[in-house]
Amino acid sequence: MPMLVEDENDKAVWESDAICRHILDRYAGSPGPTFWPSSASARTASEVLCRLHDAYIGPIQGCLYKPMPPFGRFGTRSEAIRELIAQLGVAESLADPEGPFLTGPDISLADATLFPTMVFITHMLPKFDETIVAKAGSADSAPRDAAAGALGPRLLAWWAHMTSADPEAMRIKSEIVGGLEAWEARDRWAPLLGAGTRDEAERTLFDKIIAREIPSEMVYEDDVCLAFRDINPVAPTHILIIPKEREGLAGLGAATAEHAATLGHMMVAAATVAKQEGLEDFRLVTNNGASACQSVFHLHLHLLGGRDFTWPPG
Ligand code: AMP
Repeated sequence: MPMLVEDENDKAVWESDAICRHILDRYAGSPGPTFWPSSASARTASEVLCRLHDAYIGPIQGCLYKPMPPFGRFGTRSEAIRELIAQLGVAESLADPEGPFLTGPDISLADATLFPTMVFITHMLPKFDETIVAKAGSADSAPRDAAAGALGPRLLAWWAHMTSADPEAMRIKSEIVGGLEAWEARDRWAPLLGAGTRDEAERTLFDKIIAREIPSEMVYEDDVCLAFRDINPVAPTHILIIPKEREGLAGLGAATAEHAATLGHMMVAAATVAKQEGLEDFRLVTNNGASACQSVFHLHLHLLGGRDFTWPPG
């Protein structure tokens, strides 16, 4: 969170918008832009863009740097990144089509508020798993360049103006990128799924089941996981529960704190499916690694029921 402490008065002002308004108030009448456009509609657009930034974009941008969820109100990084891109779409719809600034010919608080965040977003977004970015964006091919993948034409034109024709914005960008690169040199992003530990394991047949490219007998589906009957059942009821996005989870052994929400969600789904199948007693198994009999390297829970089991398992 940005904070301003002035030399002559040790009171701290925090939150970007409060800092901006404090500086504008304090230096009112000084040379330089007022950040308060001359047209009423531009002023309103600036207010809305600032609220959009503070209420919807700010709280989810943690998905680009925090090691574990929650990311805003989202339990997985990919969901949060999709929402972030959706919110950039809202900013696109609010931006002035003529520019060069977000609200038209005069620079406004919206430019001052959104620009530093956009420097961060455009620097970080391309690091994440291409399937996350590609699914969220409109392009079929994975947009490795976040500016192209996540910004619409108005925001792109604004971005081009700010980063090539506005010396103050260019200075701010180089300060922020310099800081991010210094962090990067110290492996700051290494633990982040996508940014540091991209899922590069081969895709499995479960991806084809998720995409409905091969048939399966599905018994349950929600936003995070789906469940279908095992093709080779070892009990009267044998259902597999899998996350729809593997996100590095080839098996349970790959789990990190980042996966806590997905894993918890799958356990609850297993209980729901067991109830749905009328099972009071059941067994839940996950095989991790070839010597534990794992054959498909996309995390899955085996829900087994409808017969008596023995212990210890073989
Ligand atoms: P595991 O051996 O623990 O990796 O479990 C993989 C499970 O996937 C096995 O129980 C297989 O019978 C099951 N399986 C493989 N192909 C399919 C398929 N096309 N539809 C449903 N289940 C499958």
